[in-house]
Amino acid sequence: MDTKDTTDLISLNREELRKLFAELEEPAFRADQLFEWVHRKHIRDFSAMTNLSLSLRERLAAGYRVSPLEIRRALEAPDGTRKYVFVLADEETIEAVFLPEPDYFSLCVSSQAGCPLACAFCATGGRGFRRNLTAAEILGQIHLILAERAAADRLGNVLFMGMGEPLLNVSELRRVLSLLSDPRGLALSPRKIVVSTSGVVPELLALAEETNVRFAISLNAPNPAIRKKLMPGAETKYPLPALIQALRKFPRNYPGRLMIEYVLVRGVNDSEASAAELEKLLRGIKARVNLIAHNPFPGSGLTAPEKSRVLRFQEVLISAGRNVFIREPRGAEIQAACGQLAAVLK
Ligand code: SAH
Ligand code: SF4
Repeated sequence: MDTKDTTDLISLNREELRKLFAELEEPAFRADQLFEWVHRKHIRDFSAMTNLSLSLRERLAAGYRVSPLEIRRALEAPDGTRKYVFVLADEETIEAVFLPEPDYFSLCVSSQAGCPLACAFCATGGRGFRRNLTAAEILGQIHLILAERAAADRLGNVLFMGMGEPLLNVSELRRVLSLLSDPRGLALSPRKIVVSTSGVVPELLALAEETNVRFAISLNAPNPAIRKKLMPGAETKYPLPALIQALRKFPRNYPGRLMIEYVLVRGVNDSEASAAELEKLLRGIKARVNLIAHNPFPGSGLTAPEKSRVLRFQEVLISAGRNVFIREPRGAEIQAACGQLAAVLK
């Protein structure tokens, strides 16, 4: 078992909880009841778990906890997008974003405090790397927001697109994925989970084989030279040719499993020539391309292309038969859009 903190019950699966309850001389069904309180009802306070005996609740409260983080504050944009800043037990701060749609909502969560890959266009990368998040800290973001919103039945997608590179924290990610899908908890279908990655090739291929989650590949460049400029950390470790080769043998279990993310940065990767080069690079790979005009943040020195240039880039790809979507920024007013999460408290 890879979870370090066994006193945080949110990161234990039902088998592990049952084992712990056996040690406490409690029957297995009590462990399942606790699991439901935590993973279905988003309750952290043992005293509210009214179908457990008072003495069990007291013993749990004395030695255990549920979720090691707190909401420090929440900011809401006019369209309802809500950014949460969480503080962790060691005072690190991370962020997650609530994204409402007409009939459901998505949650965009962080997998690391900071990020070691230092992409030039990303505020998280600019903040440097602090540490990996534990499974309890990743799940805690989801359940604290669901508790506040009181509408878990409308949870659409969980997006690993917040701070950090999820595939550099893959053992905790695996644990989170299996807990999210537990039928006694959120019972979230893996197809409703999107793991966004800068392309950690071995972990990407392994996870694609063993789960049915969707993947967003942050490609962001049509060739290694431009990628090196924008994504120096990722390109050094997993160069573009290796990533493209991996995408060619990517297991395809259903349509829409693979998305290519491409942040357009003015004067760097936004020309028609880049669009044509990108299409050539992706030839034979079945994937939708999502274009994202660069979201600004203080100090990046980069800007977004004009809308007409974004549309032109899209046209080049569409005319080659590619499915292309332009992602509109959500929550830019509160620095909650893609790449703006830095968890710097002002
Ligand atoms: N580390 C992972 C997941 C977090 S970043 C990854 O890189 O995929 C999530 C997405 O935001 C990525 O697709 C990334 O390319 C995009 N992004 C980062 N900074 C951005 C910015 N300033 N404007 C728009 N998109 C950005
Ligand atoms: Fe890290 Fe992703 Fe930001 Fe790059 S885009 S610095 S990989 S979080």
